[in-house]
Amino acid sequence: MSFKGMKNIYLCQDCGRGHVSQDVDDGVTPFMTTCLACAGTAVSMLYRARQEMLAEIPAAQEWYRPKAAELAAPPAHTQAHVDKGGLISRTKPLPLNPSWPRAKAGAK
Ligand SMILES: [Zn+2]
Repeated sequence: MSFKGMKNIYLCQDCGRGHVSQDVDDGVTPFMTTCLACAGTAVSMLYRARQEMLAEIPAAQEWYRPKAAELAAPPAHTQAHVDKGGLISRTKPLPLNPSWPRAKAGAK
């Protein structure tokens, strides 16, 4: 299944805040990434949020396939990741979503 164009939510296990990401290319995205608010560990909601719900929320992070020139001298692990279909991310200068509940990711 392609997730190209789809938005996802990453919820922080440390501060409880979340951010919206968007896949701009086909490829693999990580289960965990760095929280944009506190630099803690943010966990993917695995695209389970309805896209209609996220339509009006701008993505604060994009997952994209880098062009070769962008990886002129990438760390070996980054090149290996991209070679296997992995995407890398860039953040956008957009506000986080501070009004979201501060529930811990994975809390019951
Ligand atoms: Zn956080």
